[in-house]
Amino acid sequence: MPATYRGRIAPSPTGFLHAGHAATFLTAAARAHAAHGQLIYRNDDLDQERCRPEFTTAAMEDLRWLGLDWQEGPDLGGPHSPYAQSERLAFYLDASEFLRQQRWIYPCSCSRREVASALSAPHAIDEEPIYPGTCRPSQPTEFPSATRGVNWRFRILHPQQLFFTDGLRGPQSAVAGRDFGDFLVWRRDGFPSYQLASALDDSLMGITEVVRGADLITSTFRQILIWRALEQVAPAFYHCNLLTDAAGKRLAKRDKKHALRTLREQETRDWPSILLTKSLASRR
Ligand code: GLU
Repeated sequence: MPATYRGRIAPSPTGFLHAGHAATFLTAAARAHAAHGQLIYRNDDLDQERCRPEFTTAAMEDLRWLGLDWQEGPDLGGPHSPYAQSERLAFYLDASEFLRQQRWIYPCSCSRREVASALSAPHAIDEEPIYPGTCRPSQPTEFPSATRGVNWRFRILHPQQLFFTDGLRGPQSAVAGRDFGDFLVWRRDGFPSYQLASALDDSLMGITEVVRGADLITSTFRQILIWRALEQVAPAFYHCNLLTDAAGKRLAKRDKKHALRTLREQETRDWPSILLTKSLASRR
């Protein structure tokens, strides 16, 4: 473990946070606290169509109500400002330029649907089909930076086995090119994908452990490829179990029943500690 633990919570302000977010973020906070480290709040507000400032404010209020605090964030500032992704486009552009020069990415004119959803983290149900490689060059090729108005994809030329050891789930492996394919890094409208923005910010902000939901494990493998291509060391990972409703379905932001707002209104004061105990104890 590096000298100072730096963890992060990274909500997307596309709706009110629910009990599932609470479980993951409380776990992140507990791990930062146990390591005498710091917790960073990053506002993942890249998706301008779906994100709203009132949800950013609500997320912070709800998380503070839960008893969470952070040492750096959009409200507090800090050495890695700004902490809102919508204000960090220059960093993403630099990184995408580097990836282009190093021939890690190529322009692609396929698949509108996937491009539309690339700004958000693909939670398990949203996982994309494997890209068939229609626009992929057969050799690593340096493209001119002037290629605007196209999407850029990460090149996975050969199937490649990837590994990491998860803090909760133990050894994890996947084969890039078989379990997932060439993924979007940059969109034609001038925005990075979630994969690039998240990996780059975790690196620039000195995050030593990423705590997030288990539905993002495939994204972790994609981001491992990005860290490597950017010549950065990947952080440690801890993928939390997901909370489900009584029918076994993953909680969704659109379902108000599990929203922290709703729970706050019900004044159920003791459930956050129950949740935390549950999420820490529920090893598979
Ligand atoms: N903003 C992403 C989400 O809410 C964060 C995912 C992550 O922790 O990397 O799904």
